[in-house]
Amino acid sequence: MTSEIARKRVLVAGGAGFVGSHLVDALIALGATPVILDNFHTGDAAFLSHLDQPEIIEHDITRPLPASIGPVDLVYNLACPAAPKHYQADPLRTWRTSVYGTDNLAEFARVHGARMVQASTSEVYGDPLVSPQSESYTGNVSMHGIRACYDEGKRAAETLLMDMIRSYDMDIRIARIFNTYGPRMALNDGRVVPNFVRQALEGKPLTVYGHGQQTRCFCYVADTVDGLLRLGANDGLQGLVVNIGSDVEQTVYSLAEAVAALVGVPLQTQDCDMPQDDPQVRRPDLSRARDRLGWSPSTPLDSGLQQVIRYFQDDHRVKRALSV
Ligand code: NAD
Ligand code: UDP
Repeated sequence: MTSEIARKRVLVAGGAGFVGSHLVDALIALGATPVILDNFHTGDAAFLSHLDQPEIIEHDITRPLPASIGPVDLVYNLACPAAPKHYQADPLRTWRTSVYGTDNLAEFARVHGARMVQASTSEVYGDPLVSPQSESYTGNVSMHGIRACYDEGKRAAETLLMDMIRSYDMDIRIARIFNTYGPRMALNDGRVVPNFVRQALEGKPLTVYGHGQQTRCFCYVADTVDGLLRLGANDGLQGLVVNIGSDVEQTVYSLAEAVAALVGVPLQTQDCDMPQDDPQVRRPDLSRARDRLGWSPSTPLDSGLQQVIRYFQDDHRVKRALSV
């Protein structure tokens, strides 16, 4: 199914980021030509350094896209900081990236008659009052809270894209991505997987926020990328909004146990305050992903975590930053 994407010219906004750079690798493997657009705010040129003559455009999507990019068949919008530490550091920039940036990319897609895939997020469900969350759930977002720049920015972007579909009959699809992890996550981005892996490798206590009873489902990046490819490649999906993530729910405390066991250290934890507005539960209903994309994740948590541990142990830049 994803072979439909071969020979297509595909703009990947945010292609120097964690998920975006894996998507670029997968597109190349399928025979597509990615055009990477990024302002390197949270991305890293090193994630693209193995590519043979990549087309990279340094550009901030809050400004209209340069016409010099030329026509493309498909636009992926992954350009937005995703880690709470990053998106809360400059909330206005996050908001503008999400809303103005999505507008600029959609306009570019419209001009070129291109299909578009938007990376939305499980954060549109906020701190959900129902679980699992299906795509029809409208969510419980604290619109004035410290996460709102991201949550409401992504919600506004979804609204904008639905209006682009209604106004111009554009072929736009929306992936609501749930917690994704894997190699190339930044060691210091503050998210729970890199924090715990780093702390375990350093022999330090794992910083558990609250009592660690809040839940998440962790999806390995290769699975998330496969879902994004199917969403971009397949015909007949105009206007589809679909959850992409793992539905294996676990507490943050149980993640700490798993990481310590895999690194081979006794579990020591440090109790920390629960961040403001931290969702207490999160789990996708994947019925639609299965029905419409024929997709569900397949990587068990232990094997995915082993990949991250190996990456943190092997990458020389990461090794330099680790105090071991
Ligand atoms: P990331 O921060 O690693 O990647 C984002 C990329 O976008 C970076 O390369 C960054 O430099 C670039 N970028 C940011 N602002 C930009 C701007 N104004 N103009 C151009 N480029 C810009 O994040 P990620 O984890 O790879 O997430 C990618 C996308 O997936 C994001 O849209 C995010 O909201 C979404 N998402 C990710 C997760 C996850 O668990 N990783 C979960 C839900 C949604
Ligand atoms: N968390 C934690 N310790 C950490 C980092 C995060 O207990 O060192 C918790 C955080 O409070 C949240 C969950 O882990 O409940 C996932 O956090 P992350 O920042 O990875 O992603 P989120 O789902 O909040 O966007």
